[in-house]
Amino acid sequence: MTRSLMTGLVLLGCLWRAPVLADELDASRADFRAIYKQLVEINTTLSSGSCTEAANAMAHRLRTAGIASQNIQVIVPPGWPQQGNLIAALPGLDPDAKAVLLLAHLDVVEANREDWERDPFTLVEEDGYFYGRGTMDDKAMAAIFVDILVRMKTSGYRPERTVKLALTCGEETPNTFNGAHYLVEHHRDLLDAGFALNEGTMGILSPEGTPVYNGVQAGEKTYQDFRLEVRNPGGHSSRPVKDNAIYRLATALRRIADHEFVVEFNDTTRAYFQRLAGMAPQEQAADLLAILQEPPAPEALARVLADPSFNAILRTTCVATQLSAGHAPNALPQRATANVNCRIFPGREQAAIRRELEQVIGDPDVVVSFADPPETTSPPPALTAEILGPIEQISGEMWPGVPVLPHLQAGGTDGRFLTPAGIPTYGVNGLFVQPERVRAHGLNEGIPVESLYRGREFLDRLVKRYVGGE
Ligand SMILES: [Zn+2]
Repeated sequence: MTRSLMTGLVLLGCLWRAPVLADELDASRADFRAIYKQLVEINTTLSSGSCTEAANAMAHRLRTAGIASQNIQVIVPPGWPQQGNLIAALPGLDPDAKAVLLLAHLDVVEANREDWERDPFTLVEEDGYFYGRGTMDDKAMAAIFVDILVRMKTSGYRPERTVKLALTCGEETPNTFNGAHYLVEHHRDLLDAGFALNEGTMGILSPEGTPVYNGVQAGEKTYQDFRLEVRNPGGHSSRPVKDNAIYRLATALRRIADHEFVVEFNDTTRAYFQRLAGMAPQEQAADLLAILQEPPAPEALARVLADPSFNAILRTTCVATQLSAGHAPNALPQRATANVNCRIFPGREQAAIRRELEQVIGDPDVVVSFADPPETTSPPPALTAEILGPIEQISGEMWPGVPVLPHLQAGGTDGRFLTPAGIPTYGVNGLFVQPERVRAHGLNEGIPVESLYRGREFLDRLVKRYVGGE
């Protein structure tokens, strides 16, 4: 599609609300694009980048827009000079109403120039795509959120509820520093909000480029690594004995491989399968509805569970991911260890999963321990009408006939720190993409240009609907 035709279509989309002049639209897009470009072009990888630089750059933009300095803070945690985080607020008219928090992460996954087709830290627009590390994950949302605050302030918009912004560092680097976790522990008051909007899902385009559904994430599984360890006196391998640390561990792992955790549902996954059934081919639709019966129809359930993506959101999963054993090729092993990675269904305690693993293994000499201290968990945030209503309404206006699909996240986002801290966190962005072409975390990450601008409009309208005002 030519550029002018694209612009024409977008204009048509806007005209029914209020007459928008092409120049105005282009100028507004150019302002937003400048924020986005600046964010993408500041390297924020752990190895060689700086979130602090990005946080300062965005703080500067908010100050320039007129947001009071006392409402903008760059928080650099002690011992982590490059891991700066930005918190800002645009105070609402109603002092009693809870704020709405806009949450995005500044840091990105490592990207080596040699491996990429284009420089990962230069925003490249080519063939209808923006390319660069973080163009989707998560600098699209970060730039959109900064742009929303800037536009609200410069246009004189007065929100009823306070709008808060948190741009954090360290989301992509487990076992180092995590900004959202740090802020929850040290600056809970600054983050405080009735609920938060975050990454965690997206809109899906078909291979032909038509919108299939708009996602909204409510809840995520809990990440927990377990360490399995077997010790043994060992000895000379020329005189083997039956009791062998490697064989004991192998047996334990075999039992875990054969074990299946109970299938469970919550409000999010029930709504997900219900609505997915409305879009699926007839046969699959019947299966999806049959698993929602009480109890689920066993044969339909078996077919649905055969899909790893469905299996992942229907139960706790645990899988061996690392293995290490023995100290010499000619010695009986004195130690064998494995890492078992579990993704725990929301609401289940990590300690209960450890007990279940111990029972499944059935061998007290295989010691099961937490590889890292368990994080605080909570049930998923409720998809109330207050949250879901505006999403469905605006999504329906922008993408008529395209359903909104509630979604349980099998991976993890920073929502796992905020929701248990009493700030229910939802993933929604209206960014429609073909997942295989986005390549978040991968090579040549990119996002369709038009999807970015439409997602920006969606979030702008959604945030205004939530916070009220004019
Ligand atoms: Zn992300």
